[in-house]
Amino acid sequence: NGRPTPPPFENTYAALPDRFFSRPDPNPVSSPWLIRLNRQLADELGLDPEFLESPEGVAMLAGNRFPDNTQPIAQAYAGHQFGNLVPQLGDGRALLIGEVIDRSGRRRDIQLKGSGPTRFSRGGDGRAAVGPVLREYIVSEAMAAMGIPTTRSLAAVLTGDPVFRERRLPGAVLTRVAASHIRIGTFQYFAIRGDTDGVKMLADYAIDRHYPSVREQANPYISLLRSVIQAQAELIARWMLIGFIHGVMNTDNMSISGETIDYGPCAFMDAYHPATVFSSIDQFGRYGYANQPRIAVWNLARLAETLLPLFSEKEDEAIAQAEEALRQFQSWYEAALHAGLSRKLALFREEEGDLGLISDLLETMSRNEADFTLTFRRLADDLDAPEGYGATRTLFRDPAAFDAWAVRWHERLSREPEYDADRRQAMNAVNPKYIPRNHRIEAVINAAVDSADFAPFEELLTVVTKPFDEQPEMSRYADPPLESERVLQTFCGT
Ligand code: AMP
Ligand code: MG
Ligand code: MG
Repeated sequence: NGRPTPPPFENTYAALPDRFFSRPDPNPVSSPWLIRLNRQLADELGLDPEFLESPEGVAMLAGNRFPDNTQPIAQAYAGHQFGNLVPQLGDGRALLIGEVIDRSGRRRDIQLKGSGPTRFSRGGDGRAAVGPVLREYIVSEAMAAMGIPTTRSLAAVLTGDPVFRERRLPGAVLTRVAASHIRIGTFQYFAIRGDTDGVKMLADYAIDRHYPSVREQANPYISLLRSVIQAQAELIARWMLIGFIHGVMNTDNMSISGETIDYGPCAFMDAYHPATVFSSIDQFGRYGYANQPRIAVWNLARLAETLLPLFSEKEDEAIAQAEEALRQFQSWYEAALHAGLSRKLALFREEEGDLGLISDLLETMSRNEADFTLTFRRLADDLDAPEGYGATRTLFRDPAAFDAWAVRWHERLSREPEYDADRRQAMNAVNPKYIPRNHRIEAVINAAVDSADFAPFEELLTVVTKPFDEQPEMSRYADPPLESERVLQTFCGT
């Protein structure tokens, strides 16, 4: 019929009791301007791109005006921030505008981030600057392209209004898509208040939405905890395998669904070092690269605490069950990590010495400041190079240290029957060539802020959403930063 159709929103979360959220009034902005619509994602969600690009659609994406079937809410949650419990956080600058059922039948949240103050703003302006909006858009879409569970970015809109941070900056709104926005901190919000009914309602909602099969288990709530632990263990392993540092693993930033959520001071490592920390607010390295699995367990223990009353009336019994579930994190995590590392090195059949071989490579990389992404990528390029490992060795400060390891790897491969061509193909399907490197993201943000130029954003986005493709004409995007381009700190996404 040609008429643009607004999204067929549903609002199951808004049907929960009033204490789960607030209903903020719209906070209109001056002159919404669509920076980018993710048409592919709109299609996956069954949304009409013609509507989203129409003045009505852009008004919705800016939080100015909503179609009739919308019930925008700001969700309540709490959380441990850097280890300190904050009893009330909540959506201080976000609005859940509704849920849609995507083309594969999955319920997805559509949320605006930067849409203005709510009851949970705690003195903040409820807004977002264009820089962090572009960063989240790029990094979340790159993660999705690498097959890592993550929230997605449906659109970015300029508001036409400035926000004031250290300086005056253009304001923007990101449309975030998530399996849900239920966080560990959402459970904490009710548990802290002694609201066991609230915890139970939330757990039942989360089970129905994310882990419906646990209903058949003897104790669905223990099974819920176990499912979340497994999802998080596998997620963190995926981060480690691509050198991703989340940067702010507070309990309010850990999703029950197992998606990566809240891209703030996140970053990909360039040179490999396990102690790498980027976030300017992470003084003690709590959320550094190598700490991520430990912190995940700590966060999951906070989730377990909120669920104890649902496990058993006997507290010691409940605690024992929770502890047993938490202990399983390590084996799930290690299994996912080792399988992933083996794939990165084309070790298709397990052998006794594999773990040692892998950790010796990582050790050599860290001692030689080798680029994490390029090392794995170039190993495949070098597989049948007549001179041996020419492209990879130059990434190491002492190339001879790499040569010694490469001889061992080559011996190890010779005990498997695959052709090099198949090995290369398998490795290139898991080792990205292109990641959104910090210095590239900074350049994108500077062009947007200083000259309202979004062409660099478009170009970087195009490259990093085909992370495994060679894209020879874009090779410069694969390069690590020059000394002068190196980004030492990333800042919180406000
Ligand atoms: P984050 O560090 O992004 O996880 O955010 C922590 C809390 O601060 C959440 O409750 C956010 O909603 C809130 N918050 C972050 N930025 C702002 C802002 N500009 N205005 C109001 N609340 C904010
Ligand atoms: Mg957050
Ligand atoms: Mg944030």
